[in-house]
Amino acid sequence: MQLLELSAVDLVTAIRRGEVSAVQAAEAFLDRITKLDGSINAFLHVDRTAALARAADVDKRRREGKPLGPLAGLPVAVKDALCTSDQPTTCASKMLAGYRPPYDAHVVARLRQADAVLVGKTNMDEFAMGGSNENSAFGAVHNPWDLARAPGGSSGGSAACVAADMAPVAIGSDTGGSIRQPAGLCGITGLKPTYGRISRRGLVAFASSLDQIGPMARSAADCALVMETIAGHDPGDATSLADDVPRYTDLLEKPLTGLRIGRVPEHFGPGLDPEVAHGVEEAFAAFKAAGATIHDVELPHAKYGIATYYLVAPCEASSNLARYDGAHYGHRAESGSGHRSAAKAGGEFESPLVEMYCRSRAEGFGPEVKRRIMLGTYALSAGYYEAFYAKALRVRRLIRQDYLDAFAKVDLIGGPVSPTPAFPLGEKTSDPLAMYLVDMYTVGTNLAGIGGISFPCGFTKGGLPIGFQLQGPALSEPLLLRAADRYQQLTDWHSKRPPLPA
Ligand code: GLN
Repeated sequence: MQLLELSAVDLVTAIRRGEVSAVQAAEAFLDRITKLDGSINAFLHVDRTAALARAADVDKRRREGKPLGPLAGLPVAVKDALCTSDQPTTCASKMLAGYRPPYDAHVVARLRQADAVLVGKTNMDEFAMGGSNENSAFGAVHNPWDLARAPGGSSGGSAACVAADMAPVAIGSDTGGSIRQPAGLCGITGLKPTYGRISRRGLVAFASSLDQIGPMARSAADCALVMETIAGHDPGDATSLADDVPRYTDLLEKPLTGLRIGRVPEHFGPGLDPEVAHGVEEAFAAFKAAGATIHDVELPHAKYGIATYYLVAPCEASSNLARYDGAHYGHRAESGSGHRSAAKAGGEFESPLVEMYCRSRAEGFGPEVKRRIMLGTYALSAGYYEAFYAKALRVRRLIRQDYLDAFAKVDLIGGPVSPTPAFPLGEKTSDPLAMYLVDMYTVGTNLAGIGGISFPCGFTKGGLPIGFQLQGPALSEPLLLRAADRYQQLTDWHSKRPPLPA
């Protein structure tokens, strides 16, 4: 059990020194997955044989004195939205069931170059659309703190596997909160980097102007370690930033004296659970005790965040998901394969080809994905484009400007991640709007293209983690990680473990 509880930083050091072998580490986490994942369902695919072979190779090269990468032997779980050439990539959709990409996502390639050991692909909401992981075509993920509750989404499998010690770190993606929310609801740390900080090449596209990959781990220090490997320019993603990648782990130590943290009074209004509000206020007090100053700031357009996000994201999704037509790749319907004439189909379809497209999409996509495609297609259609999509883009600009104005006065903005602690599975599945409202504190970061980090700041009386969010200006990852790390040096919320079998 002790090995499972080592931080990623300590585990990598122990492996480099030969105190623990990479095979021992891989076996420990793989055994834990075998033992627990039947009740958590965090993984869609686990490749034990490949992981052990990879770990054995790290050990062999270490014995031979050959150079090793910075993550040598570190087990890593990867959200199933990232392409892996040697493991299936389904995005938790029937549309991509059994799909094997011909290449690795840029982030996956970097992890391999750093000698990390990929243990498996994690469950998620289908095509990353959702806030509870209940939209997976392969079953919901169960929150390790209470198996009857949702882990949050869409990177719920990544959050749950770290919380349950089935992997020391995981990779997630965040379009409107999908790293920060599940991290908050599962009591771990998750970083949504600035748009473009990490290459999106090989991340199955949801909303391309919002999507960003990031690390999920038990601490900010572990996130910093992973960031050094996965961040940086990639000529294969035109939106990836050319800025140098700092040594995040070397920048953690500096004290927080003089740090100005903003507090948005509207974030403490109706809809916020009182226990969450209390935990968040305690975190502000801890930051203050550590030398930071707290200032009220305004984000006047934040109240339009949900409406704006739920236009921009579905519009982009409807375009991105047009590629799943049954012809090129992905699920293809058995019927409508060209043998049935349009007349026989009762005039329902223009042609057998159109029938094949329609049936493939009807069968392959789940209800939430269909809802987004329909919303997006509607909002982009002639006559509605100006009223919905173009208007949403203008409001997006105002939301971004709010952040720029706020960051002229403060260094970071703090507040809740989610309005409530983890909610019971099934509670919101019949009410899409209630599910969308869960994103009220997180979508602004993505709309503005800036950075955000979420980490545990307490527990409810019922024993559920409460998350704290810090948002920072573009490329403020060193400061976000440092502030979270300093907080974690002063508190021990992040080292609490869920009540699971040892
Ligand atoms: N919950 C949001 C949605 O459903 C965010 C998802 C995400 O960040 N991938 O779109």
